[in-house]
Amino acid sequence: MFTCSSCKLQLSVNSFDADPLNPGQPLYYFCMSCSDKYRIDGVMVNCTVCHRSLPSHYFQHYRTRFKKDGMRLRVNRNCKDCSSKESAIVAQLKRANKAPNYLTKCPLCERIVYEKSEDIPDGINATNGPWQCDHDHNTKKFRGYICKPCNVGVSGDLAAYQRNAPAWNGE
Ligand SMILES: [Zn+2]
Ligand SMILES: [Zn+2]
Ligand SMILES: [Zn+2]
Repeated sequence: MFTCSSCKLQLSVNSFDADPLNPGQPLYYFCMSCSDKYRIDGVMVNCTVCHRSLPSHYFQHYRTRFKKDGMRLRVNRNCKDCSSKESAIVAQLKRANKAPNYLTKCPLCERIVYEKSEDIPDGINATNGPWQCDHDHNTKKFRGYICKPCNVGVSGDLAAYQRNAPAWNGE
C-alpha cells in the first residue's frame, strides 16, 4: 500500500500512475483521482472541432506528461464529445480497411515500421507502430495507415513521457 500525499488515503499501486521503469511502483506520490482533480488546469478551452468553450476537464490530458507548473499537458483541443465521435469514425474505418503488415514502409516517412519501438535493431533508422489509421478530418475519408511517430508528430524514439512532476517520496 502507498499513501497519497494529497488525499492521504492508503491505496494499492493500481490507484497510482504506474512507473514504466519500476514495475509495481507508483510514478508519482499522488493518486490518479487526485491527479484528475488537481493536476488539470481550471481554465476554459475552445474545442477546435465544435468551437464550444468548455472547462479543461472536457479535454483529454496526458497522465504522465506535465507542464513546468506541474499541471498535466493537454493532448489536443478536441473535447470529449468530439473525441468520442472521432473514435467511432476511426473504429469504422479500421474495420473497413485492414492495417498493413509490419516490416513494410510507412507511406509518410518511408521508414520501415516495426511493431514496437523496442523491436527496432540498433543503428537502424526505422519507425514503429502500432499502425495509426489516418483520415481526413473534414471529409471523414480514409487516408491510409501511418506509423505512430508520424501520427503524433514526434520523431525519434518515444521515451517521450516527461518526469517534470515531483518524484515519489512515500514509503
Ligand atoms: Zn489521492
Ligand atoms: Zn468539441
Ligand atoms: Zn512514418
